[in-house]
Amino acid sequence: MTYIIAEPCVDLLDKACIEECPVDCIYEGNRMLYIHPDECVDCGACEPVCPVEAIFYEDDVPEQWKDYTTANYEFFADLGSPGGASKVGKIDKDHAVVAAQPPREAEH
Ligand code: SF4
Ligand code: SF4
Repeated sequence: MTYIIAEPCVDLLDKACIEECPVDCIYEGNRMLYIHPDECVDCGACEPVCPVEAIFYEDDVPEQWKDYTTANYEFFADLGSPGGASKVGKIDKDHAVVAAQPPREAEH
């Protein structure tokens, strides 16, 4: 199990969650942040600090955002397990589910 970042993070990515993560497993894509499913230790520290409630325990992801569970997993398919987001920096891609979202501006 892991925690998942869902649609409310898209185009917001304020990174409040990153500062809470004890294992530095929240990675930055172009339009959203993604939690590494193998590196996450399920501590739950990130979930309450997200201002838009984008973070869910894997079992609790709302039905309409189930694709984001897949997105968080598949984002890392070609990256393996880097072992720390800060040393990797911003990753110049997004999962197709995220890339397909219309741009969101000034909504939050
Ligand atoms: S649940 Fe804990 S380990 Fe997993 S992403 Fe959130 S803060 Fe990091
Ligand atoms: S705190 Fe929430 S909105 Fe901010 S980057 Fe993390 S998941 Fe995205």
